[in-house]
Amino acid sequence: MDAAYQWFAGANPVNATWPLVPTLLPDEIISSWLVRCALAQGCDPLTLTGSLWPGVRFWCADPDKGLSKSQATDLGVFAGMPVEVLNSSTLASIRSALSEQGDFPNAITPWILCLGLRNRRRSGGLQYCPQCFVERQPYYEIQSRLAWHSICPIHQLTLLDRCQCCGSPLCPHLLTPPEEDLGRCHRCRFELKSAMGRTISSDAMCLQHAADRLLAGETQFYGDERLGVPDWFYLCRWMLGILRSAARARSSSSKQFFQRLNVDFEALTRPSTGLPFQYLTPMDRAHLLADTWKMIQAGPESLAQACSEFSIAPSLMPLPAGNPPACVMSIILGLQGRRSKGDIHHHADAPRSGKSVLMQWHRLLRKTKR
Ligand SMILES: [Zn+2]
Ligand SMILES: [Zn+2]
Repeated sequence: MDAAYQWFAGANPVNATWPLVPTLLPDEIISSWLVRCALAQGCDPLTLTGSLWPGVRFWCADPDKGLSKSQATDLGVFAGMPVEVLNSSTLASIRSALSEQGDFPNAITPWILCLGLRNRRRSGGLQYCPQCFVERQPYYEIQSRLAWHSICPIHQLTLLDRCQCCGSPLCPHLLTPPEEDLGRCHRCRFELKSAMGRTISSDAMCLQHAADRLLAGETQFYGDERLGVPDWFYLCRWMLGILRSAARARSSSSKQFFQRLNVDFEALTRPSTGLPFQYLTPMDRAHLLADTWKMIQAGPESLAQACSEFSIAPSLMPLPAGNPPACVMSIILGLQGRRSKGDIHHHADAPRSGKSVLMQWHRLLRKTKR
């Protein structure tokens, strides 16, 4: 398996105004470095950003999506960092590669983990490997925010998105002095490196590597079709949607359909919260990504044949927002050609299932545990 992909090399400060500026470490995401800047000055992150940008509620929005021009200029002067280096430690370039446009939507951004913000509180959205925190100084990387990353490529451990001791989501921006680094939980001060890691199927790792290599300029194929970055990620989102639809509405035909694609239908479970992919835990995402990889490996001909053989309804294969690539559209058009409009029945008056009520309960727990 390849070594971990590197997004950028890191940088040392030059002629900084602040007395103590830590090195921007390889792949470090900007919010992680800003918290370390604050702790190095002996203040909390809110004080640091409040003095830098008065009136801006910096930590109440997603700090990693990117800096405005004036914010980057101010920060560059105080921290002694070139603006380009600061921008490379945000998610802006990855967003533009994934969507061919730089702006983040107001709603969920595909493939970027959601922080679930309420003021400065969060419900998730940041992940780490405990063994990496043992072997190097603790900090968060670009990939700590990427939804296709669910496993540490160095240690093969499933990433963690909360404190294993108290269950709080990771909120390094709520650390205050005398903490000097990002190694502890902000709430209970548990040493994050002490968490137990778990290993998981390598298929999720294969997809993770393929996605990273694609963004690094390598080509990815679906069958014989060469797919660019937005198209390949669209294909993955579509397959994730198919897996989640099938887990909601189980049937014998969908079981046979997935068997044909080498996906273990019995093991296919609904994430406990039922939330969009960008909100799910690393473990839930790893299971879904592993099955997505198997579906990609099966290829478009097998998928189209399995749809036809087991009379798969178009409702099992909802199209995500965006522009579907030609390979997806040809499968969808093939499906629609076989179905009459009257095939789909809705049961609006039926009572809600126990599973659906339980899912709502898990969502409520997640909201209250910030
Ligand atoms: Zn690791
Ligand atoms: Zn804790």
